[in-house]
Amino acid sequence: MKILQSFILCCFLGGMYAQSASDREVMRDLYTEALEKQQSYRWLEELCAIGPRLAGSDGAAEAVKWGLATMNNMPFDTVYLQEVEVPHWVRGREEAQWKGFPLAVTALGGSVSTPVDGITAPVVQVNDFDELDSLGELGEVEGKIVFYNYPMKQHYIKTFHAYSDAVKYRWMGAARASEYGAVASLVRSLSNRIDDFPHTGTMTYKDAAVEIPGGALSTMASEWLSERLKQHPDEPMFLRLESTDYGRTVSHNVIAERYGAEYPEQVMVVGGHLDSWDLADGAHDDGAGCVHSMGAAHLLMQRDEPLKRTLRVVLYMNEEFGLDGARKYAELTKDDKHVLAIESDAGGYIPRGFSFDTDTTTLERIRKFQPLFLPYGLFEFTNQGSGADVSQIQDRHAILGGLRPESQRYFDVHHAATDVFAAVNARELEMGTASIAAIIYLIDTYDITLPREK
Ligand SMILES: [Zn+2]
Repeated sequence: MKILQSFILCCFLGGMYAQSASDREVMRDLYTEALEKQQSYRWLEELCAIGPRLAGSDGAAEAVKWGLATMNNMPFDTVYLQEVEVPHWVRGREEAQWKGFPLAVTALGGSVSTPVDGITAPVVQVNDFDELDSLGELGEVEGKIVFYNYPMKQHYIKTFHAYSDAVKYRWMGAARASEYGAVASLVRSLSNRIDDFPHTGTMTYKDAAVEIPGGALSTMASEWLSERLKQHPDEPMFLRLESTDYGRTVSHNVIAERYGAEYPEQVMVVGGHLDSWDLADGAHDDGAGCVHSMGAAHLLMQRDEPLKRTLRVVLYMNEEFGLDGARKYAELTKDDKHVLAIESDAGGYIPRGFSFDTDTTTLERIRKFQPLFLPYGLFEFTNQGSGADVSQIQDRHAILGGLRPESQRYFDVHHAATDVFAAVNARELEMGTASIAAIIYLIDTYDITLPREK
C-alpha cells in the first residue's frame, strides 16, 4: 500500500515537473513579449496624457472613455461599463504662511473649505494622539491649528507598514482635533522622502465634533516649521484651503471579458483603479495597475492556447475616495462564480511577488510555482493582503491576490504631484504585467481554485 502511495505521489510530482518545462517556455514568452513590445507602458503614456483622474472629475470621465475605447480594440468577447455613484469634490486655492514664509500645503480629500479669507491662528504641534489628548485636556488646543508631525517610520522594510502605522493622523486627525476646539488640522505628509511636495489622501469627519479643514504640509515644510515653533510657539499661521463639495455624480467601472474555453462560468478578475488623486496623473497610483491588468489580458489573449476560465479585466472607479466602484462591482456580480481576483495597486515598480488572501492549503499549492518566478526576481508568495478593490468580494470563495512590487520609492510619489508618467520605468512596469499574466496562466492551467469550486 505504501509502495502504491509512493508510486502515485511520484507520478503526480513527475507530472507536475514534466509540465514545468513547458511552463518555463510559456513564461519566457510572456516576459519576452511584454519587455519587447512594452504595450502596458504605451497605454500608460496615453492614460497619463489625460491628466489627473479624481473620481467625479472631467479627467475621470475621459479615462472611462479611454478604457472603453482601448479595450474595445482588443480581442475581448465583451466590453461594458457599470454605472457607479461617486463624490464630486473640487480643490481650490491653497496657501500656508508662517512668519511670512510660504509652506507647501495641500487639502486632504473631502476637507471642508476654510473661509475665503483663510484662518489665522497659532499652531500647536503634537507628535501623536496621546499628546493631543493631554494638551487638549489642558485647554492648549482650543482656537489653534493642530499640526501632527508624525513621520513615516524609516525602520520598516516594507514601506506599506510605515504607511499603515502613520495614516491614522491623516484619516482622523481633523476629527480628533475638533474635539478640543481646534480650528484646522495639518498632518506631515505621508512620505519616506524629505521634499517639498505635499501628499493628499482621504480623511473622515466620522465622530467629528465640528467639521474643520484638514491639510498636509510637505515633509520639508514640516521639519522646518517644527524646528521654528520651538522658538516661536505663539506665532500665528495663515492657512487657506479652499474646496467645494458638489455632492454625488455618476461615473463608471470599465470591464472587459474573454470567455473561458472549458469553464466559462468561472471568473478570474484582474484589476486596478482608474481614478487617481487630483495633484498629478496617478501614473503609479493606479495607472500602473490598470495597464498591468490590460497588459496581462493582452498577453494571455495572444497565446494560441485559450484560458480554461473567463478572464475579466476590471478598471474600478473611485478606490481613493470611498471604494464606490469596487462596492458596486461586488453588488452587481453577486451571482457570478468568482474563483480568482488579482489586483495591482502598489505601483509600477519592479515586482517582488504576490500576496494572497486564501487558505493555507491553497497558498501552499500556489507556492509550488515560486521556482518558476525566481529567474525573474520574484520570490515573495505571502499570506494576507490582496487589495482594497478585490477585497470587496471576499465573501465569494475566490482566491484574492495582489501584485507586490518593490515598495522603497512608492511613498515618494504616492498621492503627490510627483506621481507622473516620467516616474515609471518601462521595464519595471512590463515585468509586473508579465508576472500577473504568468500567475493567472499557472493558476488556471493547474486548476488552483478553492476546494468546493473544483
Ligand atoms: Zn491606489
